[in-house]
Amino acid sequence: VSELVLTLRQPAQIGDRSREDFVLATMEYLPGSVVRGAFAAAWLARHGVPAKQSAQRAEFIRLFEGEVRFGSLLPAGTQPPSLSVISHKYEPLEGCDEVEFDRAMTDDVPLRCPNPDCDSPLEQSRDLRGERPRLRRRASVSIHESGVARRGVLFTRETLPEDLAFAGTVAGDPALLGSLAALREVRVGGRRTTHGLAAVTIKAGSAPPALQRRADGMLVLRLSSPGIFVDQQGRPSREPTPEELERLLGVPARVVRRWTRWQQAGGWHIASGLPKPTELAVAPGSTYLISSEQAVADQTITALGQHGVGLRRHEGFGDLAPPPQLSPGRREREAEQVRLRGLRDSVAALSGVRLNWPDRRPAMWRALSGHAAGDQAATAALRREAADPPDARVGAALTAVLNMTPADAAYVVGELNRR
Ligand SMILES: [Zn+2]
Repeated sequence: VSELVLTLRQPAQIGDRSREDFVLATMEYLPGSVVRGAFAAAWLARHGVPAKQSAQRAEFIRLFEGEVRFGSLLPAGTQPPSLSVISHKYEPLEGCDEVEFDRAMTDDVPLRCPNPDCDSPLEQSRDLRGERPRLRRRASVSIHESGVARRGVLFTRETLPEDLAFAGTVAGDPALLGSLAALREVRVGGRRTTHGLAAVTIKAGSAPPALQRRADGMLVLRLSSPGIFVDQQGRPSREPTPEELERLLGVPARVVRRWTRWQQAGGWHIASGLPKPTELAVAPGSTYLISSEQAVADQTITALGQHGVGLRRHEGFGDLAPPPQLSPGRREREAEQVRLRGLRDSVAALSGVRLNWPDRRPAMWRALSGHAAGDQAATAALRREAADPPDARVGAALTAVLNMTPADAAYVVGELNRR
């Protein structure tokens, strides 16, 4: 599995449908189906339409009709929507213990914020989570599908700004991914002569999100892209059947709760160039609580992240999402303050170095600052300082810094430099 990054070189408009309020909207992320279509178009522009039975056609089919899985690409700093999460409808107050609840992880969640001063309703959001990209909005003259201006009608066109980078996973044979990287640029979304040019980067990536295990052994399945499921009779379904779950998990399992909504899923059969019939899909952010009769192996859970769920997976459907990071309420903010105080206390002995061992300080501080910035040579130097400290308390403090996460180490070094 590799990480795919598309960086816009022009503004882009990723539209799935026209709205009736005279806004030509853009999606804020790139669904896997859009990514796959962009690469297929770029491949055809580079190589031409391949002849039947040719090696090029064989590669085209492998790339776009089965062997490569294109995941959703999200703007940096965002997370997929989560339909199991409910958030404050109005701005939360300082005193609200919790700001958001994840119904997939907590069984008893209130309908309104329990803080009596606040009492905000809690509601589901369908949007991307985190810092959403800032869209550009411009008024234009209305254009029909045919390209003819409708006199006097203004509408607003939304676009994603250039330089915005989208990242996600792409899975497939390394040689195939090499063919995609070699294209270097693709065009995403509409108005392709002036919009949507994006630079392609493919690099080694970490394992894609998998299922989440609850403390009681139940599993949580979250989708980052639309998902297409059918029941035993082949009719659209909001959830995977017990049969599909057993095939994926290796043990009998069923959905016990779900948070979903319907949306339409179109698409193209790329090899033939024909549109596919529109199907019903569940929206990105759909979430399922799954009960299994026996424990599911860790390996199986990891493999499911790479495989995805439901139908038409190679077109970008049925990709899994990581657990949502909930906005911290008062309780979590206070717990974080306590934790940070503990980190500061664990390195308090270093404050005495300046007075007691002034000749040791410059090298020690260079090592600390470099380590905090991720410099591996500085980390090695810090290990040497920790192995030969001026006293035991300073040694313990240096070891504590070495054992911290990079973010925590950067925090304590910053705090030491402020004193
Ligand atoms: Zn509140």
